[in-house]
Amino acid sequence: MDIILLGPPGAGKGTQASLLKDEHGMVQLSTGDMLRAAVNAGTEVGLKAKALMEAGELVPDEVVSGIIGDKLDELGSEQGVIFDGYPRTAAQAESLDEILAERGRVLSYVIELSVDEDALVERITGRFTCAKCGEGYHDIFKQPAVAGVCDVCGSTEFKRRPDDNEETVRTRMQEYRAKTAPILPIYEARGIVRKVDGMGSMADVHEAIEAVLSL
Ligand code: AMP
Repeated sequence: MDIILLGPPGAGKGTQASLLKDEHGMVQLSTGDMLRAAVNAGTEVGLKAKALMEAGELVPDEVVSGIIGDKLDELGSEQGVIFDGYPRTAAQAESLDEILAERGRVLSYVIELSVDEDALVERITGRFTCAKCGEGYHDIFKQPAVAGVCDVCGSTEFKRRPDDNEETVRTRMQEYRAKTAPILPIYEARGIVRKVDGMGSMADVHEAIEAVLSL
């Protein structure tokens, strides 16, 4: 089963994708994570993406669709995929249709995480992760049990995304409203959109997604 998690920045796409990955063995394809890895590695894609990401603007469609196609080629057809942060434009949605059809894959659902936009800035600007294992934390909602020490791996190093500041978050929201939200009707017309309230606790949202997917 292949699914898309769709929602504005901070809606919890990455968190929910990672839960589905851990519990159901699905594969999480996050274009944001892949682009950040490319930026850190200094690859050609990373060089193209860096300034745009720092500004909160979208990276060109052909760049992200290219990396999605390449990643899918590394997977077996039986492995279910969660698209996290892709597609983000009508052109990407069109490319995804082609990419899936070429590989004999079928998109089962688009889960729309609905959220209160005012809460998103607080959610995003407070988040940080363990620099070693990637466990996610939050200044207000989820501090490590022992201050400054990762609950999972014991590391004392943490990091924040450079684009998780208020100004960039506002641009990312605008990009979402202008370019990403308009792709929903494409999937609504196919009857595969399921709306899930993204404002509940992590566990509640996860449960609601599992109910939609009958997992
Ligand atoms: P994310 O981790 O999904 O919030 O993405 C972080 C940043 O990576 C975005 O603000 C964009 O600059 C870029 N990005 C990630 N996915 C895409 C995509 N599908 N299309 C264009 N840009 C993307």
